[in-house]
Amino acid sequence: MATGKGHLSVMGRDGNDFTERTKLLLAQRVGWLCSKPGCLKPTVGPKKGSDGVVKLGEAAHITAAAPGGPRYDASLTSGERRSFSNGIWLCRDHAHQIDHDEEHFTVETLRHWKQDAEARAFEQLTTGGLAQTVNLGPELIEELKELAASLSLPAEDDLLNVKRLLISVES
Ligand SMILES: [Zn+2]
Repeated sequence: MATGKGHLSVMGRDGNDFTERTKLLLAQRVGWLCSKPGCLKPTVGPKKGSDGVVKLGEAAHITAAAPGGPRYDASLTSGERRSFSNGIWLCRDHAHQIDHDEEHFTVETLRHWKQDAEARAFEQLTTGGLAQTVNLGPELIEELKELAASLSLPAEDDLLNVKRLLISVES
């Protein structure tokens, strides 16, 4: 699959591109869906009017394939740069976005996406459904607790008390 990223076609990229086998592995391990949280765009499907296949995904480099590229890490060998661990499967839009905003899309962020996307794919494969794994940060969990408190949602003890009251009313 052509990567089509102009700024990566600079010298030095040779030998740092993913092999077809690695690209396939990256796509398959996330069920051919974009790995960006909340995107989940399918990246493979039928070509209407023939028995062909259309692919709309990209094996993106977490750290760039060549010097000058996004998140380039000079300490990696070519082998590491083209290895499975340095790739992430994304739809074309998000592959483009992460390569043009390296300030926001850091190596750590992309590694999290990949990890979560693999967990989501495993969940879907296991349950046969459209399971989504959502990682709630501690701040969000705190917010949800506060929200529950502000709504005066009954705690488990309260429910037991209500049940006892009802029983005493009935008898
Ligand atoms: Zn996407």
